[in-house]
Amino acid sequence: MRIGFGTDIHRLVEGRPLLIGGVEIPSAFGAEGHSDADVLLHAVTDAILGALALGDIGSHFSDRDERWKDADSMVFMREAARLMREGGYRIGNVDATVDLERPKLRPHVDRMRSNLAGALETDAKRISVKAKTGEGLGAVGEGRAIRAAACVLLEPAE
Ligand code: MG
Repeated sequence: MRIGFGTDIHRLVEGRPLLIGGVEIPSAFGAEGHSDADVLLHAVTDAILGALALGDIGSHFSDRDERWKDADSMVFMREAARLMREGGYRIGNVDATVDLERPKLRPHVDRMRSNLAGALETDAKRISVKAKTGEGLGAVGEGRAIRAAACVLLEPAE
C-alpha cells in the first residue's frame, strides 16, 4: 500500500466562481488561480501523486502553461488517477478537509464526495470530505483564503 498527503491554498477574490470538489457553490467570492482553482481537487491530486512519488501537481500541470488556463481541475485529478492505475493501484480511501469561513459547505459535501468517487473510479463510501472554518483566525478566518488538505491510501488493484 502507499500513503499520500496533499495541501492547497487559494486567495478568495470577487467575481470568480467558487468551485470545490467540482461543485459550484453560490458565493460572492471565488478562488483565484490559473486553472479553475478547485482547492479540494488540487489537494487530492497532490496526495495521489505523492503516494506514487511522482512529483506534484505543478510538475505535471505548470501554471505557466496556457493549456491549463481556467482548466477544469478534474482533468488534473483524472490524470493522477490514470497514473495510479498504471502503477497497479486503486483508491483505498481518501480523507480530505476544506477550510473556508463562509458559506457553510456541509450541504454540498455529499455532491463533492460523489464527484470525487466518479473521477477516481471508486465508491463514495471510500471518500471523506470534511468542512471546517478558520474560527476567525488567519487568512482563512478573515475570509481571504480557502485551504484544503487530503490524505489518500492506495491499495494494490489485485
Ligand atoms: Mg491550487
